[in-house]
Amino acid sequence: MDVRAQVSMVFHLDKCIGCHTCSVACKNVWTDRPGAEYMWWNNVETKPGTGFPRMWEDQEKYRGGWKRTSGNKLQLKSQGKLDGLLKLFYNPNQPGLEDYYEPWTYEYENLFDAQESDDQPTARPVSQITGEEIRINAGPNWDDDLSGSPLYAANDVNFEGLTEDERQQLFEIQRVAFMYLPRICNHCANPSCVASCPSGALYKRGEDGIVLINQDICRGWRACISACPYKKIYYNWVTGKSEKCILCYPRLETGQAPACFHSCVGRIRYLGVLLYDADRIESAMSTSEPLLVEAQRDVICDPNDESVIASARSNGISEEFIDAARKSPVYKYVIEWKLALPLHIEYRTMPMLFYVPPLLPVMGKDGDQPYDHAEDTFFTSLDKSRLSIKYMARLFSAGNETIVTAALKKLMAVRYFKRMQQVGDVQDDKVRRIMREAAVTPEEAEEIYMLTAVPTVNRRYVLPPLQREESIEATCNVQECKGSCGFGNVSGAGRK
Ligand code: SF4
Ligand code: SF4
Repeated sequence: MDVRAQVSMVFHLDKCIGCHTCSVACKNVWTDRPGAEYMWWNNVETKPGTGFPRMWEDQEKYRGGWKRTSGNKLQLKSQGKLDGLLKLFYNPNQPGLEDYYEPWTYEYENLFDAQESDDQPTARPVSQITGEEIRINAGPNWDDDLSGSPLYAANDVNFEGLTEDERQQLFEIQRVAFMYLPRICNHCANPSCVASCPSGALYKRGEDGIVLINQDICRGWRACISACPYKKIYYNWVTGKSEKCILCYPRLETGQAPACFHSCVGRIRYLGVLLYDADRIESAMSTSEPLLVEAQRDVICDPNDESVIASARSNGISEEFIDAARKSPVYKYVIEWKLALPLHIEYRTMPMLFYVPPLLPVMGKDGDQPYDHAEDTFFTSLDKSRLSIKYMARLFSAGNETIVTAALKKLMAVRYFKRMQQVGDVQDDKVRRIMREAAVTPEEAEEIYMLTAVPTVNRRYVLPPLQREESIEATCNVQECKGSCGFGNVSGAGRK
């Protein structure tokens, strides 16, 4: 056992209102610089939709993440040993400017400095790259709320495997349903970005699992940009270096929450510590797709287990961190309640941020009744849901519908439990049956409700200030481990 600590986040998608405040907060703090104009370390997408950069989930095109070889080994999709070298000079799997957008500003000085005149002054858009006037035809949230659109939503790659009928339903105007998906770097436990870097500039911090790029070592090869299946690494065209979300570590080190977390209007984010066993990453991530979520759960350790604590201590993890892991809201959502799921675990990078799938777009379609909450048909209505379970499973459980359904059933049961208590229009025995079917006890339902609906910031953010003096050397030499899995697997991790 080789226990590591990870600062992890849960996004409760039923609470996200798609306001983009998180994206703007992040932009103002980190990417309001020359060369970084088009970067959105945090972005919020409408699903179904094509996202940012456009079609980022299309791994046929971008070849991000890991693939399982016939011998059950993991190999980077973006490069074998030889073509990794060739792609240094020409990489056809990189997103181009057209997949992001040409960043622009407006000629504000025309407004401020305009002379008195009969005509209104105008502020035309100008490119932030060339300074020339441009016609805007793309942006970071260009398909916002366009779920039913044949131009955008219809191209969502997660529709693969849906029947024609299921697809058509999504585009019936009365039944259009959508959800918001906020995305930052997942600070993966098996990061393909780290494994792909020819210069060894990327690393995963041992003490908190944050994945960073050493700007002094980065040579701008951009192998990480193709290798990251979430497209969460950006190339700064002014400095010639790659950049990514740093999970606001300078804020965490001074006891402040990340900017996206701090500003989140919906209070959808939870931050806490997870302990995981680095020895088990490789075998977990080389298992078959439907088993990946369970395999990842097995890698995450029980913070109350004495052998886990002993291994954590011997790896240099501080007592404050171990204590935070015991109180972690993330552990509750991911392991105890099994409500929060990884995004696209089939990319096999073992993302360490998690999502509670949203119930609302799933419920609310049963025949022609948009909101049929009749408890007799309650769980069967999941099968006829507005946003198909297959679609949700493609996002959050590598196609395993049982896992997503179990999480949604539990969310439904909690709602019914509270409805019985607070509105009183549902009978006890029916609610008990619903809860039995969803495998949730009244105590657990109450706890889920408290943490979901009315949590204080101290319950959503459970993390001691990070301490740089406790830095732990945990990333192996990428040149030596290239093409293998489980980065962070340096033997004898410990404080230097
Ligand atoms: S999402 Fe994972 S693979 Fe992508 S940059 Fe972050 S750590 Fe690397
Ligand atoms: S600030 Fe919160 S609620 Fe608003 S879009 Fe971001 S994650 Fe969603």
